[in-house]
Amino acid sequence: METKVWIVDNLKNLSLSYPQIAQAAAKLRENEVVAFPTETVYGLGANARSDLAVGKIYEAKGRPSDNPLIVHIATKEQLHEIAADVPDYVEKLIDVLWPGPITFVLPKKSGLSDRVTAGLDTVAVRMPDHPLALALIKEANLPIAAPSANLSGKPSPTRAAHVFDDLNGRISGIMDGGATGVGVESTVLDCTQQIPVILRPGGVTQEQLESLIGKVEMDQALIEEGHTPKSPGMKYTHYAPIAPLTIVEGSLSFFQKTIDAARREGKKVGVLATKENADSYHADAVLVCGSREDMQTVAAGLYDVLREFDAAGVDCIYSESFSNKGVGQAVMNRLLKAAGHQIVKE
Ligand code: AMP
Ligand code: MG
Repeated sequence: METKVWIVDNLKNLSLSYPQIAQAAAKLRENEVVAFPTETVYGLGANARSDLAVGKIYEAKGRPSDNPLIVHIATKEQLHEIAADVPDYVEKLIDVLWPGPITFVLPKKSGLSDRVTAGLDTVAVRMPDHPLALALIKEANLPIAAPSANLSGKPSPTRAAHVFDDLNGRISGIMDGGATGVGVESTVLDCTQQIPVILRPGGVTQEQLESLIGKVEMDQALIEEGHTPKSPGMKYTHYAPIAPLTIVEGSLSFFQKTIDAARREGKKVGVLATKENADSYHADAVLVCGSREDMQTVAAGLYDVLREFDAAGVDCIYSESFSNKGVGQAVMNRLLKAAGHQIVKE
């Protein structure tokens, strides 16, 4: 299959009459799959009402079929077309946080492909905060199922080139709207109970949610190992670069000793470093991922850097560790998964 690339710049003055948007939307209406940017990462979109279209997403990504997809919408009316029993606290959160990086899990209404929800009776819904995503969904006039537009298991794509590397020849098209901003995926919030539960930490933090609606719980599986996550997708290995990744907790001198030990074994060592510490490491590839003083910059750069290690051809990667505060929670969640929970401590 030929993968068409539509480049869209001038996002600030985006016009719905852009032929790129019309062409990509037409593909979606024909039940083809198209990648598009959101504010978090690139999504791989398809008509959420069609088994055929949704099946193509799983096939292109090699995604396990028991891992449900998030449905992306462009208007609040669409929420009530696909989800039932929307609690008042969700309405409150939507007013402040949508469009934005938060996904609500709610009882589903009929009409969606069962493959979107992997047979569950709930649906995950979000309105992305990206002009191109919103324009495309409006033009297609459909709810759009869209997981991240990477091959399953690889880091999520934050640039169109990442999507191209993974999915060229496997999907109908890619809308290129430049690099995404948030860098980690949306927060997934289970809203089927009185007190909502975070199933996946992401772009909106627990602190933000609690300041708006009071108590918000965290899925136990996110806090301690040994619990089965409530969100099916959280059990899979994710985001992994080719070389094994280990998180290092300790002083800079302990970090360097860890690097030196691997190099003595003849390994080419990569380091995932922050701006503040990058100059302190002696290794084969030191890649800078944001600043410790602004965790949002670490989130924004994380997947890009994980992919760059593949190109650097290192044998192993050591990463700095971060606190679980704010968006640091999402960063550590992704890093731990990328590392298969391998940590060395001083
Ligand atoms: P991705 O589309 O790759 O960003 O992943 C979507 C995440 O949302 C995965 O972790 C899914 O397991 C989760 N998810 C989607 N739908 C549901 C649902 N109905 N209930 C619980 N988790 C869901
Ligand atoms: Mg994903």
